[in-house]
Amino acid sequence: MIEINPGKLAALDALAPVYLALCQQYVTLFCTDEQPDKFHAPVFATPLSERWQRVAIQQAAGIAQSWRSNRASAYQDYLDDLMDYHEQQADGTIEMQTEEPTWKEWDVPTLRQTCIQANVNVVALEPLQDSTFDYWLKISTLDFRKQLLVPVKLADFHREVLKEKTINTSVTLNRRDTGWWLTLSYDEVVTVQTAPDAPVVGIDVGIANFLTTSDGKHYGTFHGKLRERQKRDREKRRRKAKLRKCLEKKGVEKLPSTTSRSGQRLARHVRQEINRAVNECFAEHPDAQFAYEHLSVATMKYKARAMNAYLYASNLAHIPEQIAWNAAKRGRAAIRVKSAYSSQECSVCYNVDRANRPNQQTFCCVVCGYSTHADLNAAINIEHRWGDDELRACKDRKAVKTLLLHRHEEWKQQHGWP
Ligand SMILES: [Zn+2]
Repeated sequence: MIEINPGKLAALDALAPVYLALCQQYVTLFCTDEQPDKFHAPVFATPLSERWQRVAIQQAAGIAQSWRSNRASAYQDYLDDLMDYHEQQADGTIEMQTEEPTWKEWDVPTLRQTCIQANVNVVALEPLQDSTFDYWLKISTLDFRKQLLVPVKLADFHREVLKEKTINTSVTLNRRDTGWWLTLSYDEVVTVQTAPDAPVVGIDVGIANFLTTSDGKHYGTFHGKLRERQKRDREKRRRKAKLRKCLEKKGVEKLPSTTSRSGQRLARHVRQEINRAVNECFAEHPDAQFAYEHLSVATMKYKARAMNAYLYASNLAHIPEQIAWNAAKRGRAAIRVKSAYSSQECSVCYNVDRANRPNQQTFCCVVCGYSTHADLNAAINIEHRWGDDELRACKDRKAVKTLLLHRHEEWKQQHGWP
């Protein structure tokens, strides 16, 4: 909305901090004392109209809801880590420097930038015909019955994309350093076209291979070029930090910034590479339905161990998101399955043992001797977990392990194992 006269947006600028403060009050309320409720009665004093208050309450309830569920799953990961730690301690496989996992309680989210998820009661979008502009945006302000009228002009690209689409009546207004931004959205229903009896392909997600399918194909990697770039970036930051220290000593006031532009570029590049790998995987399996892992923080850490864990772990999370999005937009079937022990379980005899993984690349079962690439074994396990209701019903990692070891005992009996 940069092209319009900035003076026009003064009323919106005045509304922003009031809205942000009110939204924050409800976020805090819903994260601490009360359950998130978008129909909650207004309880805080504010100059905002009742309609605006409703918008703030709804948005705050949404923020609090996702904060609560993220916190709950992080807490579950902590409990899993803790159980893992005690298990390793009991069987004597723990590494010397490993510390007992601890839980640090989360802070309530702080809203820093104004983002308004408005509905039609406070912000209305009206199409314009025969005008250089595409829409009128009618925004209610702090002044009673005084609407702000803002003309909206779309870029050619956006106009093309939105052609013949029904735009949702709810719009988002974002206040950024560069000004106000309007976000429009539309719904598109893509029906699943995969045949119910289509072959199931399991996908394992990892560092050495972004994706490994249960039919033995690999797509994308963090190693090679990406790893080289990351090393160069780290070196650059180290040199910059040195320079800063040196300049600081000399009393130079204006120091070079510590944020790394190339680091941001690298992160973007990694995401692009992930997208490419996922696209390729879908293209090479046109008739399959996919099973992929529900990655927990604990699993990501496990998969990213011994490397720059933080960078890798945050990017790992992008892979399942990308699989889900690709499946949705193409009308392909894909489901998430539990990831617990998928890398330690033997895909032949169900034996779960840390010792089945002599190193990062190799899987070698200590009971039945089945041996293959570790990522492939995991992908096969994931494929088998599609439609495994017994496993799906397991409440935590412990229950998964108990079930798998029970199956292992059955397998041994069936195969006349001593
Ligand atoms: Zn085995």
